[in-house]
Amino acid sequence: MACENRASNAGQLWSICYSLIMTARILDGMKIRDEIFAELKTEVAQLAAQGVGPGLAAVLVGENPASQVYVKSKVAACEQLGMASWLHTPAANSTTEYLLQLVDDLNRDDNVDGILVQLPLPAQVDSKRVLEAVSPAKDVDGFHPVNMGMLVSNRPGLVACTPAGCMEILRRNHVAIEGANAVVLGRSDIVGKPMALLLLHANATVTICHSKSRDLPEIIRGADILVAAIGRAGFVQADWIKPSAAVIDVGTNKVTDRAQAESLLINFPQRVEKFLAKGSVLIGDVHPDAVNTAAALTPVPGGVGPMTITMLMSNTVKAARLRRLSGRSQPASVAR
Ligand code: NAP
Repeated sequence: MACENRASNAGQLWSICYSLIMTARILDGMKIRDEIFAELKTEVAQLAAQGVGPGLAAVLVGENPASQVYVKSKVAACEQLGMASWLHTPAANSTTEYLLQLVDDLNRDDNVDGILVQLPLPAQVDSKRVLEAVSPAKDVDGFHPVNMGMLVSNRPGLVACTPAGCMEILRRNHVAIEGANAVVLGRSDIVGKPMALLLLHANATVTICHSKSRDLPEIIRGADILVAAIGRAGFVQADWIKPSAAVIDVGTNKVTDRAQAESLLINFPQRVEKFLAKGSVLIGDVHPDAVNTAAALTPVPGGVGPMTITMLMSNTVKAARLRRLSGRSQPASVAR
């Protein structure tokens, strides 16, 4: 027992020492979430004064425990902001036709401003058809090809939540984007591609990398801004990062293997202790040691994660404003 205490104290001491030599500014997603939530609360009240109560309909098919947790937190966020929400829970054996009908009903319901179809859908469902059936005006996930097209041509629309959240983190932390060399690692439709487009429209010089890219360390060494979204725990090594770089780590990888956790967290004994107690730890796509080489970086957890739900709320309010108030004059504070 005494031995364990000594080990724990040594761990704490090392953590304190290591935190003293950390160089990166932490880009705190929780703080930005709180700022945006405060702004959204004001906007929801202003919309209510004009007779508009923004509302989100969530469709959760089956009983996937992770999806249940995500949807629960989205519904809770609506409540926190004073917004309406409706939860539809079709059975796991629902057909594509049944879900298309449900989406159609929600498209026609004037009280519903945003429709969220929680992924993944069961294997028998044609996910693409269901997602494309959502009215682009209510597509608060920003996945619809119409909204993707609007983003490509830099026209106002609903933008995918995670990349939109990454942009908020950069902007609200005053990271210079114009003229910066930005590297986006990953090219998925929901993160990498929209992220690259948002950075491009903000006048960064953008390089998109993927699993077939050559010389990744060299490309990353040239990045003033790095966005990592590949789903590989600790893949980006600390010494690939330029000392002046801002790093946005989108990866949320649940590591359960003890040897892997101990190796990745060798400089973070307190996190190893937590791993041992819990049996898992969340690690980003960037090696934890990057906190000692980057100029600024988002922590995992607590960086990009909280921004995804935040931007879903923001998109729902925006969708309400665009759909229900177009043609009516709007107060300047909500016309962003
Ligand atoms: P995805 O659809 O699996 O796409 C992964 C991308 O990474 C692909 O473009 C793939 O390249 C590329 N890639 C994979 N291994 C690579 C390697 N070794 N080197 C270079 N590129 C590689 O993933 P996603 O949906 O974009 O998500 C990425 C990560 O972000 C995951 O960890 C996910 O959990 C996380 N995420 C977090 C949030 C949040 O709210 N924090 C939201 C969404 C996603 P190819 O195209 O060549 O296959």
